[in-house]
Amino acid sequence: MYGTIKQDLKQELSEIREAGLFKEERFIHSPQGADISVEYPEGSSTENVINFCANNYLGLSSHPEVLEAAHEGLRTRGFGMSSVRFICGTQDIHRELEEQLSDFLKTDDTILYSSCFDANGGLFEVFMKAEDAILTDQLNHASIIDGIRLSKAKRYIYKHDDMDDLEQKLQDAADARYRMIMTDGAFSMDGTIARLDKICDLADKYDALVVMDDCHCTGFLGDDGRGSHEYRGVLGRVDLITSTLGKAMGGASGGFTSGRKEMIAMLRQRSRPYLFSNSVSPVIVAASLKVLDLITQSSDLRDKLHSNTRYFREEITRIGYEIKDGVHPIVPIMLYNAKLSQDMARDLYEKGIYVIGFFYPVVPKGQARIRVQLSAAHEREHLDKAINAFEDVGRKYDILGKSKEEIIEMYGE
Ligand SMILES: *Cc1c(COP(=O)(O)O)cnc(C)c1O
Repeated sequence: MYGTIKQDLKQELSEIREAGLFKEERFIHSPQGADISVEYPEGSSTENVINFCANNYLGLSSHPEVLEAAHEGLRTRGFGMSSVRFICGTQDIHRELEEQLSDFLKTDDTILYSSCFDANGGLFEVFMKAEDAILTDQLNHASIIDGIRLSKAKRYIYKHDDMDDLEQKLQDAADARYRMIMTDGAFSMDGTIARLDKICDLADKYDALVVMDDCHCTGFLGDDGRGSHEYRGVLGRVDLITSTLGKAMGGASGGFTSGRKEMIAMLRQRSRPYLFSNSVSPVIVAASLKVLDLITQSSDLRDKLHSNTRYFREEITRIGYEIKDGVHPIVPIMLYNAKLSQDMARDLYEKGIYVIGFFYPVVPKGQARIRVQLSAAHEREHLDKAINAFEDVGRKYDILGKSKEEIIEMYGE
């Protein structure tokens, strides 16, 4: 049998390659951090580059105190649980982490998953049946799209960040038993932060639940770093928050859903990735408790991240690039042309600046960009090196100070 599918797969793989969409992996030979050593292409010698494409927002992936807590967790609680939660996979520290996360997020209760992908995969079908309606932002994460597909609820996709369209869809869904609005807290390609204040007002007006995926905000957005619900002033108004331990919160893996008491209780009874997949490793749980400790004891890392973000946004604009406005450490540098985004990312890499160029279908046609992600692990000299490299490369392609129209005229869309 394998002969037939093998031929088809080879054909499809070569089509992916020809379309320039083949994803090549780069091998990092060092711990994750600001300065990393990268092998690319495969088999070549390693290059030392500054990393501007990790979700290591607080620089905790290799933080000494986090590593020490992980070692301690390993020593005192072992490596793995060899079980799902409801058989014999729950330790005291799993429960402690859930309680600490609830305290931090200002919610009733929290349930851990192996990933946020699983948290989203196991959420919708538990609450939303055929007589219900889910209203979902057009740009929501793949795991949300998949999770919604697993439920039989009617799906209403509203235009990205468009509150009028959301209101229209809420009216269209007036007959449903329950309505649930689902949004990313921040959208990863633009750094846009969802207008949760408006969303919660609409939810009140049309009697809907609000669920938010805060993977790109948990730990650093808002005055105390609680996330986009704190940033938008809606603490306590979002019914469920899903998020990850795999980005700002230490960056290993693991996810969770946090929110209303009875909803979390029902997830423990019915959520399939929770019931039928392994418990989070004690090593990660112990390290995550330390992460929460670090970010609640001091605002230093958060402050450094935001000051790095402000500095980079100002400087990159000053040298003549156009970025998407905002405050998020995701900074989209707009280039519009797909090939230009790839050529520039390659040239920047050769200058020791590791960034990724994104183009269709990851972003809309004609919206190609380089995405820079700032971290508290970056020092001012890292940022200055990046700015200088962007200036050199921008000069080479003669796009500094050029408008969107001028860039498109030079390079096409
Ligand atoms: C990264 C991300 C996820 C997946 O998180 P994992 O814990 O890595 O599975 C889900 N949703 C959003 C919005 C993300 O950015």
